[in-house]
Amino acid sequence: MAASRARSTFRLPPLPTIREIIKLFRLQAAKQLSQNFLLDLRLTDKIVRKAGNLTNAYVYEVGPGPGGITRSILNASVAELLVVEKDSRFIPGLQMLSDAAPGKLRIVHGDVLTFKIEKAFPECLKRQWEDDPPNVHIIGNLPFNVSTPLIIKWLENVSQRDGPFAYGRTQMTLTFQKEVAERLTAGTGSSQRSRLSVVAQHLCQVQHVLTVPGRAFVPKPQVDVGVVHFTPLTQPRIQQPFELVEKVVQNAFQFRRKYCHRGLGMLFPEAQRLERTGKLLEGADVDPTLRPTQLSVSHFRSLCDMYRKMCDEDPHLFAYNFREELKKNKCGNQEKEGDRESYGL
Ligand code: SAM
Repeated sequence: MAASRARSTFRLPPLPTIREIIKLFRLQAAKQLSQNFLLDLRLTDKIVRKAGNLTNAYVYEVGPGPGGITRSILNASVAELLVVEKDSRFIPGLQMLSDAAPGKLRIVHGDVLTFKIEKAFPECLKRQWEDDPPNVHIIGNLPFNVSTPLIIKWLENVSQRDGPFAYGRTQMTLTFQKEVAERLTAGTGSSQRSRLSVVAQHLCQVQHVLTVPGRAFVPKPQVDVGVVHFTPLTQPRIQQPFELVEKVVQNAFQFRRKYCHRGLGMLFPEAQRLERTGKLLEGADVDPTLRPTQLSVSHFRSLCDMYRKMCDEDPHLFAYNFREELKKNKCGNQEKEGDRESYGL
């Protein structure tokens, strides 16, 4: 009892400020790594509160840098915090935090894109997918060029229930360029609606929980930042493989201002495009004159189910890629052109 109370009321002792840590360890932001730091601990506390109750939680922080968010997570009385940082310059500063929070902070000098979190926390934390989310959280303020590919990889992990989701429906609280945060959460009919909206929302409950002005970061980025919270759904709203959903959604948004049949048609070889696009849309009961942004997740579910049926009937269909056909046609035309020239035509 005494131990659990001690665990749930932990506070870090007085420490140098983040600004002082930056000075002390000469941690000037590296432009080529798109580093922008948060120095205001009231703001990092606010971001961390958006992750929910972290008492006794196991938290994976990606890209801790000089440790602002790291401090707020430790002060939220977590059981353990594991941080993965790519830039070795930050390790001594993080080590100082680890000394101030004995047994709570594990530091890995590594890359979040390859680190295997599924092996890092105790097995006993695992929950059945349909249960409440496990007490495992991911939190991070990564550079924008890493957070977008990473969320796509993690959404694929959600659909396969592996990687960080081997523990169950692990929740994530991550920062993005504000525009990307808006795309992730855009509803049907919104001008921000995109491929990312559908892929994220069919797998997770996605909430844009906070906007942080660019001026809160040092150095100041060009844009404001959106904090997005993800909770994987017990049942994906589209029950087809990730790759297939991605393919249908990506094609649908190919021509985002045109009617949806234009982009969806690109799923089929040119010779049968008209007929098979008609069959897809009719089978899915989707109006061909809707714009891609007007398609709901239920529309996409019907389209994916119908496309899957068509792929089962024609085993070559899924491998079809209209860009390759375009390239081949271009080469063919150039060859024909070459033949004409060599015959002096
Ligand atoms: N979290 C800190 C904050 O909010 O002040 C730092 C944020 S800074 C935008 C991003 C951090 O992620 C940097 O410390 C950078 O070195 C780190 N980082 C970038 N790419 C990474 C990767 N692939 N794996 C791990 N860390 C990475």
